Amino acid sequence: MKQNIETFIGCDSAYEDAKIVLFGAPFDSTTSFRPGARFGPGAIRHESFGIETYSPYKDKDLTDYAVFDAGDLELCFGDSRTALTDIRNCAETILSDGKTPFLIGGEHLVTLGAFEAVYKKYPDVHVIHFDAHADLRDDYLGAKLSHACVMRRIHDLTGDGKIHQFCIRSGDREEFLFAKEHTDMHKFDFTGLDELIDKLKNQNTPVYFSVDLDCIDPSAFCGTGTPEAGGIGFTELLGAIDTVCKANIVGADINELAPGLDASGASTALACKILREFLLALL
Ligand code: MN
Ligand code: MN
Repeated sequence: MKQNIETFIGCDSAYEDAKIVLFGAPFDSTTSFRPGARFGPGAIRHESFGIETYSPYKDKDLTDYAVFDAGDLELCFGDSRTALTDIRNCAETILSDGKTPFLIGGEHLVTLGAFEAVYKKYPDVHVIHFDAHADLRDDYLGAKLSHACVMRRIHDLTGDGKIHQFCIRSGDREEFLFAKEHTDMHKFDFTGLDELIDKLKNQNTPVYFSVDLDCIDPSAFCGTGTPEAGGIGFTELLGAIDTVCKANIVGADINELAPGLDASGASTALACKILREFLLALL
């Protein structure tokens, strides 16, 4: 008999053998519009058994590699800083064991916890950020720790020129003004991504890669808290993830699936397939 523990499909290797460690952050306390992202990691694991471990895109199979799924953290809902510290500690442990942390959100604020750990180990790290939203507000309704501020808090650590944003199509005027001076923002699509990755790859720059799934058009992915029309398609995102994974990825996440907001389950199925392809691109 085996222990009945649900992992993401094909990610049931021993911790010691794993190159990548998955862990979930079921947290959505600062969601500005429709909550529910806290149920993302659990839904992704459960629904992953509806897809195959084999990728016809890459002719690779998850079962040929060692990925450990650590399950979900038990996070404090009332206090964002406490939750972020728990996420940071988990990522720190994974990094100190020489493995790559892969975080499943949760709302996008959870990225800050994982990034703090990565930044401590790799102070020259760059960030690749796919999102519909700029996430560059200095505060949201007075809160500095909000999913609307996550890239601004990361900028507090990295300083100018290290954050590369793609698919951005929403934010207030101040965020876009801030981006002009302080981040490398590419609006609407992946224009400029190939050139950037060539450069980062040649310099072997460590890269943290954060994918807010709401970069995808709501017609294909409506199960998210702040859907934003005019997004990219699934195949386009797959291609862009493959491109970024050619760089030296030292930490990654997907976030902002709110499974309950898409009763059809299609958004969760899409997130599962993205996660499989993302892992296979990293392995
Ligand atoms: Mn975001
Ligand atoms: Mn977003």
